[in-house]
Amino acid sequence: MPTPEAKMEKGELIYEGKAKKLYITDDPDVLLQEFKDDATAFNAQKRGTILGKGAINNQISARLFQFLEKEGIKTHFVKLVSDREMLVRKVQIIPLEVTIRNVVAGGMAKMLGIEEGMLLKKPVFEWHYKSDALEDPLINDDHIFALNLATEQELETIRRLSFKVNAILIGFFKERGLDLVDFKLEFGRFQNEHILLADEISPDTMRLWEEGTKKKLDKDRFRRDLGSVEEAYQEVLRRVMDVRT
Ligand code: 5GP
Repeated sequence: MPTPEAKMEKGELIYEGKAKKLYITDDPDVLLQEFKDDATAFNAQKRGTILGKGAINNQISARLFQFLEKEGIKTHFVKLVSDREMLVRKVQIIPLEVTIRNVVAGGMAKMLGIEEGMLLKKPVFEWHYKSDALEDPLINDDHIFALNLATEQELETIRRLSFKVNAILIGFFKERGLDLVDFKLEFGRFQNEHILLADEISPDTMRLWEEGTKKKLDKDRFRRDLGSVEEAYQEVLRRVMDVRT
């Protein structure tokens, strides 16, 4: 995949989600992804703003995509273009959300009636159907094949890549004093040929607990009204950008 060279002009807005906007550029294979400060939770029933979040998540995602690329994971990331904007390859998003869990929290704690904080004997992989209206329900491989959402080979690739991303990120955060509790990934098809890691990887899409104190440094501070939300995002940015560790 050659790196796009053309000068990128920000064109028409083609998609606006809860946390990001996508614009076309003068390269048909490249989009501009802009991160917003808007925050939503519980299927957008709770709305707010986290000051500086857009710029922070842009920088964190860029750093993590670059680190993962170095470790052999193909992502949609092309380059940072400003505080809150990055260029990404235009992919066809597969309507599945992958969740990997290392520690019981959030949806798993609720679904199985377990207290948060239990370290899992092995990482738990989940497929969710990407649908706001249905609140991203948990599904299995059979649902995916029966509904023609992805091929068997695509699922296998995504599963393998997701576990690899988990192993890489656990180590990355461990070196920075953070426990990677769980996270969500999205993948896309690029030029009908490659599966690329897409979307974003940020405290909006991961749970990160400070090693030892278990202090939450992610979107749960917003979801659960724990306060110091902006500070938590800044703290994650500071640690993620630390190149010495
Ligand atoms: P849970 O299923 O426990 O709510 O979420 C598991 C992990 O995936 C958490 O780190 C959470 O932030 C992330 N996650 C799951 N679904 C979504 C989603 O629709 N949007 C975002 N931003 N993150 C999600």
